[in-house]
Amino acid sequence: MTQTARTYQDVSDFDSWKSTDFLPGGIVTDAGNSMLYITGGWRSDRPVWDEEACTHCMLCWVHCPDSSILVKDQKMTGIDFDHCKGCGICVLECRFKALEMIPEPDSLSSEGGN
Ligand code: SF4
Ligand code: SF4
Repeated sequence: MTQTARTYQDVSDFDSWKSTDFLPGGIVTDAGNSMLYITGGWRSDRPVWDEEACTHCMLCWVHCPDSSILVKDQKMTGIDFDHCKGCGICVLECRFKALEMIPEPDSLSSEGGN
């Protein structure tokens, strides 16, 4: 198989380069469109929530970079697994041991794959 040679453009000269010089790619075309992309499939580990242990302190909600902590009436109601990427920050931030990370394949057998 022949490989096409890539050409790279020097962008270190900030005074001369313009974004229009480049083909679009990896760009955000509309504000707030991340909800349209189901990124949960990137996860290799997933947080498991213990509702009994949860005090609804919302520390996990504050720190989740993907806005994946679901809340209703000021209480945590679950995790949005369509968008949670499994970073584990919520588990680190929870002071009440109400969250733990498990390998994603383990969740398929224990939770029916949700
Ligand atoms: S940080 Fe822990 S205790 Fe606080 S809302 Fe999240 S899961 Fe519940
Ligand atoms: S694992 Fe990361 S992305 Fe998923 S709910 Fe926790 S903080 Fe959010």
